[in-house]
Amino acid sequence: MMPAKQSSPDFKKSQFPAKNHDHGRCIDDAVAAAEALCARKGLRLTKIRRRVLEMVWQGHNPVGAYELLDRLRDEHKGAAPPTVYRALEFLLDCGLIHRIESLNAYVGCGTPDHLHSGQFLICRHCKRIAELSDDTISETIRSRADRLGFAVQRQTIEILGDCADCRRSQTA
Ligand SMILES: [Zn+2]
Ligand SMILES: [Zn+2]
Ligand SMILES: [Zn+2]
Repeated sequence: MMPAKQSSPDFKKSQFPAKNHDHGRCIDDAVAAAEALCARKGLRLTKIRRRVLEMVWQGHNPVGAYELLDRLRDEHKGAAPPTVYRALEFLLDCGLIHRIESLNAYVGCGTPDHLHSGQFLICRHCKRIAELSDDTISETIRSRADRLGFAVQRQTIEILGDCADCRRSQTA
């Protein structure tokens, strides 16, 4: 029997959102998805983990660990770097956020239910990030590496460019 087909990711959530979209909904959706995922896997979404997730989702731009620490300290006086790093590690392991290596920063994942390695489009101007999470790209890399006897542990593809909004305002 064929295994149940994995639901395809909602690509809309991974693309550049409209400039004036209701971002509160993005945050609500991200927290709801995290709660559901943790409940399903028997993991604990502690207060700190949830708060760090919300902070990573402050926008569609990547956020650095120290910026997160500063914000967390406004709320929790004693917050130390390990607090933030442990929360980030948990969120990364769950696939709720991604690390953007070239920027040394983190961004929320719009499709955490779909196991994927990300391909990220990074706008040079507004710094927003959109995810492609295209399985055919990941598979191509995996099979080419495999032919060289190379076992892929993790793939992160970061593509720098200009988003449609920024290109429009440049030509306007
Ligand atoms: Zn949003
Ligand atoms: Zn993702
Ligand atoms: Zn842009």
